[in-house]
Amino acid sequence: MAHPICDVVIVGGGPAGSSCAGFCAASGLRTMVVEREKFPREKVCGDCLNPQCWPIIRRLQLEDRVRALPHGVLDRVEFVSLRGRKLCAELPRGGNAEIAVKRSLFDGLLLKRARELGAEVHDGATVTTLEKSGCGWKLMTREGDEIRATVLVAADGRNSTVARLMNLLPRVAKERIALQAHIPLPRQFGNRIVLEWLPGGYSGQAPTNDHELNLCLVGRPGSVGALQDWAKKQFGLPADQAWRSITPLTRTALSPAHDNLLLVGDAARVVEPFTGEGIFYAMRSGEIAAAAAAKLIREKSSCAAREYVRLHAAMYRGRLWINVLARLAVVSPQIGSAFFEIARFHPGLLRLLTRKIVS
Ligand SMILES: Cc1cc2nc3c(=O)[nH]c(=O)nc-3n(C[C@H](O)[C@H](O)[C@H](O)COP(=O)(O)OP(=O)(O)OC[C@H]3O[C@@H](n4cnc5c(N)ncnc54)[C@H](O)[C@@H]3O)c2cc1C
Repeated sequence: MAHPICDVVIVGGGPAGSSCAGFCAASGLRTMVVEREKFPREKVCGDCLNPQCWPIIRRLQLEDRVRALPHGVLDRVEFVSLRGRKLCAELPRGGNAEIAVKRSLFDGLLLKRARELGAEVHDGATVTTLEKSGCGWKLMTREGDEIRATVLVAADGRNSTVARLMNLLPRVAKERIALQAHIPLPRQFGNRIVLEWLPGGYSGQAPTNDHELNLCLVGRPGSVGALQDWAKKQFGLPADQAWRSITPLTRTALSPAHDNLLLVGDAARVVEPFTGEGIFYAMRSGEIAAAAAAKLIREKSSCAAREYVRLHAAMYRGRLWINVLARLAVVSPQIGSAFFEIARFHPGLLRLLTRKIVS
């Protein structure tokens, strides 16, 4: 089915795509989101909303509705070394506290908000082909939809179809795999995130409400079986426990603008999950891409794409060293674990790192 031409078509309805769609629609652009999955759907994610997300959530006028979702409030992060030594860092409290909320709920709310603000949403539709058409784009979905738009936004995650179809996606080494499940919340787990090094990888844990724990396991393909065995024993999971999975965890960053194609969220740059910042970068890049899309359409300004590249880089400036450090710490559990054992004697160092991530 052919749709009327829109100003912006956004491929992917995760936090990047929905935020972008909400801001585009709010600024009066004819906006369409094409999302492969039927919502609500879960994602392989730690479900933790970094406090930096709150200002964007407020700009989308969603604060009360996010807080009304079942969630876990997180007031500290506990690191556990390979030798079982523990080290705790406090997280911000009050209005800017970190929370964990299931992605089915959070992403569902963001997409609903985009609809309320005027975006047309097609979920259950997978973009399979795209081509430049005049000064815009023509997209086709597997389900037979034909969509034309002036600006195309790739918000389709780390394995971006749009980037692949545009030959922008580098070959990725499947170096590590992440598994995730929601499991019954252990009694007295508390308001904490646990980041635990294990032989062959690490585990992240956070309560997402009063009865469920988000459990993530990250490791090389060869160690995933041992990580699952550890989790089964540690949390008393059934032998047939179901896991969601995703790979890769590391990927070369792509330039986020190519004329009237903008890449947002994981499609442009993937950060190390250990830092729990991906949703923030997704939402913020969606917001600044919406401003760029409006300029591209209304002012036909070629500066808009350059400005987007500049703001996109500024968003990461001074922060990527954290990502490098986190990657070092998790790719080698021995090194990461040893670092945190040393940090026990230098609590200021850990405070600095945690503050850098959550403020
Ligand atoms: C193990 C792990 C733990 C993590 N924990 C955290 C955490 O606690 N906190 C945090 O902030 N970040 C975390 N992250 C990172 C976070 O999950 C991502 O950064 C975030 O989901 C990126 O959002 P996005 O909108 O860019 O992409 P996604 O959330 O991946 O959304 C992309 C959307 O595009 C859709 N799509 C894909 N292809 C197509 C297509 N061809 N046509 C139509 N639609 C398509 C998908 O269905 C999907 O809904 C974690 C990541 C991992 C792997």
